[in-house]
Amino acid sequence: MVDLTRREFVRKVAGAAGLTFVGCGASAQSTSPAASTRRVVSVNGRRIRTVDIHAHCLVPAAAALLNQQPNRSALLPLAGEPQETRVAAMDRAGIDVSALSINLNWYGADRDLATQVVTMQNEQLAEFCAAHRDRFVAFASVALQFPELAASQLESCVRNFGFRGVAIGTMAGRRELADRSLDPFWKKAEELGVVVFVHPLATSDPNGRLAGNGALANAIGNPLELTIALSHLIFEGTLDRYPGLKVCAAHGGGYLPSYAHRSDRSCSVFPEQCTPGQPQKAPSRYLKQLYYDSILFTEEGLRHLASEVGAQQIVMGTDAPYPWVDAPVDVILRTPGLSDRDRAAILGGTAARLLGIQ
Ligand SMILES: [Zn+2]
Repeated sequence: MVDLTRREFVRKVAGAAGLTFVGCGASAQSTSPAASTRRVVSVNGRRIRTVDIHAHCLVPAAAALLNQQPNRSALLPLAGEPQETRVAAMDRAGIDVSALSINLNWYGADRDLATQVVTMQNEQLAEFCAAHRDRFVAFASVALQFPELAASQLESCVRNFGFRGVAIGTMAGRRELADRSLDPFWKKAEELGVVVFVHPLATSDPNGRLAGNGALANAIGNPLELTIALSHLIFEGTLDRYPGLKVCAAHGGGYLPSYAHRSDRSCSVFPEQCTPGQPQKAPSRYLKQLYYDSILFTEEGLRHLASEVGAQQIVMGTDAPYPWVDAPVDVILRTPGLSDRDRAAILGGTAARLLGIQ
């Protein structure tokens, strides 16, 4: 990480703003609010600044360091390629601000390589967002397979670059997120007050049952990964040890919010498999202290999530550029049972607060 204060960094970036802006390819027209195709979202006549908390990008040079080819040319590359397509898609969908994260593909790297990749990604993310602060914020990358290092990387990102969140996978290499060796990371995330966006890696499927037709490793494997990861955070006491954590789960938290009350019974049905007093509350109660993106696909799915966890815990997500979701704003506007305040919170208010978007 380049050792610059945030002010020095912003000044440096601002000094090279033309170069950075053009180099990253987001044209002035495409980011202008005056662009004619930009959808303006309102709730009951009040303009809402909408925020997509789940959008992907990549840093090509970091992917090259890992000898990985981006699997979709439509991913927003933070150097080299034009960005008009992404900004135009945001404008059409009514997304004012996208919170960018990079898919977690460096958890198998050794310490030196992981450090290089993470440093490169965070510097480019910070530079890109500083140059496009009206449309993009970003989650930091950390080398979670080295928890102490990840904690110091996170602190550096927050203090030097002003990141307000970090993206992590559903496992840290072969370790569960609730493994006690990760406590230094959780402690630091709580202390810094940043959002921890949990996004599944390609699912672990040791028995090969998700192979075959249907992209099941992604379609059902990813929500399953989240279900497992969140359940461990609850049952292993991570959320008791760090109650101030702001964890945001991708994909609506997977299957957990649909079936959480079964977990409330597991320690009474199988007490011999439970540590007494852990977790400290009924498992389903922890759901109300987590955050979730809105990728539920239907109004009924979103309505149910809101009734289980509270509408104020939900933030809009799209998974851009992957075409999982057709009309992210409209699903939120049409979901029954939400108040105007709820809709404003889901569309952008809660994410703006969490991510410190001014
Ligand atoms: Zn995603």
